[in-house]
Amino acid sequence: MDHFHFRDGVLHAEDIPLTRIAEEVGTPVYVYSRQTLERHAQVFRDGLKDIPNKHIAFAIKCNPNLGVLRVLARQGYGADVVSGGEMERALAAGIAAEDIVFSGVGKKRSELRQGLERGIGQFNIEHEPEGIALAEIAHSMGLRAPAVLRVNPDVDAGTHAKISTGKAENKFGVGIDVAPEIFGRLAKLDGMNLRGVALHIGSQLTSLAPLEAAFERVAILIADLRAAGHDITHVDLGGGLGVPYHPDDNPPSPAEYGAMVARVTKDWNVTLMFEPGRVIAGNTGVLLTEVLWVKPGAKNPFVIVDAAMNDLARPALYDAFHDFVAVKPTGEKFDAWIVGPVCETGDTFAKDRHIDKVESGDLAVFRTAGAYGATMASTYNSRDLVPEILVDGDKYVSVADRISAGTIMAAERVPDWID
Ligand SMILES: *Cc1c(COP(=O)(O)O)cnc(C)c1O
Repeated sequence: MDHFHFRDGVLHAEDIPLTRIAEEVGTPVYVYSRQTLERHAQVFRDGLKDIPNKHIAFAIKCNPNLGVLRVLARQGYGADVVSGGEMERALAAGIAAEDIVFSGVGKKRSELRQGLERGIGQFNIEHEPEGIALAEIAHSMGLRAPAVLRVNPDVDAGTHAKISTGKAENKFGVGIDVAPEIFGRLAKLDGMNLRGVALHIGSQLTSLAPLEAAFERVAILIADLRAAGHDITHVDLGGGLGVPYHPDDNPPSPAEYGAMVARVTKDWNVTLMFEPGRVIAGNTGVLLTEVLWVKPGAKNPFVIVDAAMNDLARPALYDAFHDFVAVKPTGEKFDAWIVGPVCETGDTFAKDRHIDKVESGDLAVFRTAGAYGATMASTYNSRDLVPEILVDGDKYVSVADRISAGTIMAAERVPDWID
């Protein structure tokens, strides 16, 4: 459920007509709904109501906007970060250091040190040398790093290959078969407080079966580690729950997910940690765009919008589907391609899709753009960096200003030794 709805034939974000945002801010622009964000945060937590000890860390890579993070901080969410930059964002948004989990497959030593200096709650170690480096740095600072070992359970998450992370051939974590030996060696290090394990098998999962299979493997690992004398107090189950992009999609709900987790983990006797991203932010945002031109095509026309692959990369990157809806639909439909202005054929949002009939000057949105949208934006083709708006009831504010091509250019220089 979200708070983007039609009122008097005009698509609104909460109480704000999107026509007003287009007029006052310009397009393309991301528009987020605070009420939707809060609702999703609450629904996810409610889904975990049968889990006694838990910690929820929003995977901020999917939407690191400070305004968005502040809303989630107020909902009691921590942050899962994958870089030093994300760590600073989480702190700047008011998320407590102890609620920050540091994931990420290639952490720099400087970032490990930064996390220790900041006093973050947990490091998710990706492999043995990283754990050794972390322990060394912590020891030199007179600290013991709170950490868990990320394991790769070798399950097929059944999602797009580029966002599948839990198969043996993927770069993430250590093989679950070798995890006990590595855990044993790392746990002994001075400077290390190794207290559990983590996993994250992929994103946009539309079935619970692979998650359950992975968790069952982890249950065996926990028993083995405990039998070897290790104290296992924390298990991080990652994120990955999918969202409906297409009107016919029906991914598992947070309640179904939570019930499965509660059942599988009931005897684990640990603090369970969660790292949801997309399921919290996906449906809280739309990308608002203006139709520039409608141009005849070989079969169907091209709807050329002013948003492009640099603003919303998911279709170009993953062949992802984003629902396209006119802000003032006439009721008429047609079959069309939806493309952006970037000089790549990959800058295509939809092919031969049955959509609202639109004309030059009309406004439309790509739905479900609140996760992995603005955060992946670039300025390719010297386009402006897309701005972000947060709506709350009948007010809205720019939570990220448009950054012009001129501002980007101002950071560049021509060396004086050329001619
Ligand atoms: C990306 C990521 C997440 C969030 O994934 P979603 O599919 O957005 O829920 C959680 N944990 C880790 C380690 C990640 O890399």
